[in-house]
Amino acid sequence: ALTIGIVGLPNVGKSTLFNALTKNTVLAANYPFATIEPNIGVVNLPDSRLDTLAKMHNSEKVVPATVSFVDIAGIVKGASEGEGLGNQFLAHIREADAIAQVVRVFSDPDVVHVDGGVNPASDLETINTELILADLQTLERAIVRLEKEVKGKRAEPATLEAALAAKEVLDRGETLFQAGVDVSPIKELGLLTAKPFLYVFNVDEDVLASDTKMAELREMVAPVKAVFLDAKVESELMDLSAEEAGELLASLGQDESGLDQLARVGFDTLGLHTYLTAGPKESRAWTIPKGAKAPQAAGVIHTDFEKGFIKAEVTSFDDLVAAGSLQEARAQGKARIEGKDYVMHDGDVVEFRFSS
Ligand code: GDP
Repeated sequence: ALTIGIVGLPNVGKSTLFNALTKNTVLAANYPFATIEPNIGVVNLPDSRLDTLAKMHNSEKVVPATVSFVDIAGIVKGASEGEGLGNQFLAHIREADAIAQVVRVFSDPDVVHVDGGVNPASDLETINTELILADLQTLERAIVRLEKEVKGKRAEPATLEAALAAKEVLDRGETLFQAGVDVSPIKELGLLTAKPFLYVFNVDEDVLASDTKMAELREMVAPVKAVFLDAKVESELMDLSAEEAGELLASLGQDESGLDQLARVGFDTLGLHTYLTAGPKESRAWTIPKGAKAPQAAGVIHTDFEKGFIKAEVTSFDDLVAAGSLQEARAQGKARIEGKDYVMHDGDVVEFRFSS
């Protein structure tokens, strides 16, 4: 499953956010290094289209797409040199498909800040620096090895060139993701800063109410995407009924929870989208990379579907809703028959034909 690793300095609200994510109680304590082992939380990707499809088809159940989050132990200043819990975190980040950094914006005199004061810009810098230093260590070792291997004709010169180019970007203090570096020739190095990245600003109510303050923070990290939430509110929301949760969000001027937002932005950052299937058994969202073609999409349901793919009957969600039923959409010519080169769109409602 695709996972997003959650990182951040100690005491920024990672455990609190994670409580909300897992609906379980993980260690949330007001002192540094409380988070030691990674934990996993799976959240549903909110998708109101599924409810519409379920109603239309009288589906027994609705199965949304999911996004997994892994809580990664505390990175502190100097972690890549062995400070705090040291560089144990590296292995955990390496396994994640994307990284979300929780940044403390909330001010609370009762909660100690590890580096002295609340300063989002400096926190961003600290984590970026640790990740960059970790990658530089990896690259420096790799470059020594690759130089020998290229001489001995055991490695491609292009691999060494890619490693040198990546090092240059990191030496400038930029991450590989920010710089848009193509790391495919050196994929096996598992460079951390090449992973898709997003920011989670843990804010107070007053920031949520201020478009100006949010715009400032957004600008600080652009083009990297940011999500705004109040981790304390998120953990309160999980104890409420859907109706009460809706009222609390409305009172804060929000129309969706921070976790829903996080799932959506995380999904998008991973370069994913969904297509839909619907029937009496279930209405379901299936996760595919953007740009995936019909056979690859079929393969997500079952590997045999990809091998035996013949064609797909595709109706866009909006067309299906406008028609009211698949039969009517077919009568209107809105249900298209697509072949193996068809590039899937988000919200395509699909029935695959395949040979077994
Ligand atoms: P971690 O070290 O990053 O996992 O941080 P924790 O989740 O343990 O949070 C550290 C402290 O900050 C705890 O006492 C939390 O209750 C508190 N905290 C977390 N999020 C918020 C928030 O949004 N607002 C306020 N006021 N306190 C928070």
